[in-house]
Amino acid sequence: MNSRAPHILCVNPWIHDFAAFDFWAKPLGLLQIAAVLRKHGINVNFLDCVDRFHPKETNKQKTLWDGRGAYRKKAIDLPPGIGDILQAYSRYGIEPNWFRHDLEKLKKAGKVDLIFVTSLMTYWATGVEETISIIKEIFPSVPVILGGIYATLCNEHAKKSSKADLVVTGSGFERLNKIVKDYTGFDMGFEYDINDPYRLDNLPYPALDMQHKIAYAPILTSIGCPFSCDYCASSFLVPKFIRRSPESVFKEIEYWYDKYKNKNFAFYDDALLINGEKYAYPLFEKIIDSNMDPMFHTPNALHVKEITGKASELMFKAGFKTIRLGLETTDFKDRKFDNKVKEDEFYTAIAHLKNAGFKTEQIGAYLLCGLPGQSLDNVKNSFLKVKECGIQPTLAYYTPIPHTKMWGKAKKHSKYDLDADPLFTNNTLFPCIFNKTAAKQISGIKNL
Ligand code: SF4
Repeated sequence: MNSRAPHILCVNPWIHDFAAFDFWAKPLGLLQIAAVLRKHGINVNFLDCVDRFHPKETNKQKTLWDGRGAYRKKAIDLPPGIGDILQAYSRYGIEPNWFRHDLEKLKKAGKVDLIFVTSLMTYWATGVEETISIIKEIFPSVPVILGGIYATLCNEHAKKSSKADLVVTGSGFERLNKIVKDYTGFDMGFEYDINDPYRLDNLPYPALDMQHKIAYAPILTSIGCPFSCDYCASSFLVPKFIRRSPESVFKEIEYWYDKYKNKNFAFYDDALLINGEKYAYPLFEKIIDSNMDPMFHTPNALHVKEITGKASELMFKAGFKTIRLGLETTDFKDRKFDNKVKEDEFYTAIAHLKNAGFKTEQIGAYLLCGLPGQSLDNVKNSFLKVKECGIQPTLAYYTPIPHTKMWGKAKKHSKYDLDADPLFTNNTLFPCIFNKTAAKQISGIKNL
C-alpha cells in the first residue's frame, strides 16, 4: 500500500451549447468530493473550465447583485447531424490555452496522480470530451475518472465518447475510497454507508473555497425527491430521499457567511419544503434569529403544495429573494405527467407568498414547453394564466432524459434519433416539436 498522499486534480468541464449563463450553477458533487479527499489527507487541486473569475480573465463580466453572471464564450462549429440551425453554437468558459497553461503548471510541480472530471447536462457531452482530450495531451498517462449526471444517465455514450479511463455512475461517494486506492495505492479510510440516514451530515462542506472567487454558495439540504414526475430523472439519479439536519445546514450557511463574507445562497434541493415542520422551518427560524442578513434563491423550484402561510412567512423573514415554483402547466385537468400540484394549491400558494410580502418580480413559475405531444396553445394559455396571477411565468424548455418515464414517448415524438447522441436532446432544438414555425410561436409567447 502506498503511504504517500497522492495529488488529485478535480476538473469541471466546458459547456458546449447554444446558450448558457451562470444561474447559480456550480459542480456541487465534484466540490463535495474534493472536500472529502482534502479532509482525508489527499492533495487536491481544482480547475474550473467555466470559471468566471479566472486570473487571466481581463474582460470582467458583470456579476449581478445575486451572484449570477455571464460566462466567457467563443463560437465553435455546430456538431454534425444537427441540421440547419441558425443560432450560434459556443464553448462557454475559459480559453483552452488558459486551461493548458494551468495543467502544465501542475505538471511541472509534479502534482497530478489522478484526475476526476464531472459532467452535468447530457447534451454537453462534447464539452466533456474536449476537456478530457486536452487533459490527455498534457497528462497522457494519468488516469481520468468521469462521473456526474451525463456519466450516469448516458453511461454507454460516455464510455464510448468521453476518452475517460473509467466512467462512474451515481453519487460516487460509495466507491470513492476504492477508486483512490485502486489507482494510487493510498487508503483514505473514508467510508460512506448508504444505509446511514445521517450520512449527509457527516460530509465536509463542499470545497467552494478552492474557486478563485465565491460569488454565491450552493446549499443542499437533501438529496432525491419523493415524487416521480414523468419528465424528471431525480428518482433515477438519487433513488432515496435523504435529509440533512437543520442544525448542520444552518452551520454551513453561517460558515460561508462569516468566514467568506458570502451573502448569496442558492438552494439546490429538489424538495426543500417537504415535511417543513421538521426540517425547513427550524432552519429558517434559526436564520431569522441569527445576526446574519443572507439572500436566498431557489433555482431548482419549490413544491407548490408545500407553500403554506407559515412557509411563506418564514422564507420572507429569512431573506428569500428569488422564489421559483415548479408549476409546469396550468392545464390542471389534463395533467398526466405528474401529480405534484392541484389548481387550488397553486392559487393558495401565490396568495400566501404575496401576503408574506413577496413582490411580483420575486416570484416565478416554471412552465414546461416542448413536451412530446404538447400543443403550444396549451403553453400560451398557461403563460397568460400565470401572468394574470401577478407572478412571472418562466418557460422551461423540455429536455428528453434517458431513464425517465417520458423517454419512450419523447423518442416517438422526436425528429431526431435520441438514442444515437445526447446532443439531439438539447432543448434549444425542441427535439419533440415537429412544427417548423414553433420557434416563432415560442418567441411570440415570450414576448407576451
Ligand atoms: S420534477 Fe421536481 S417534483 Fe418532480 S420528481 Fe423531479 S424534482 Fe421531484
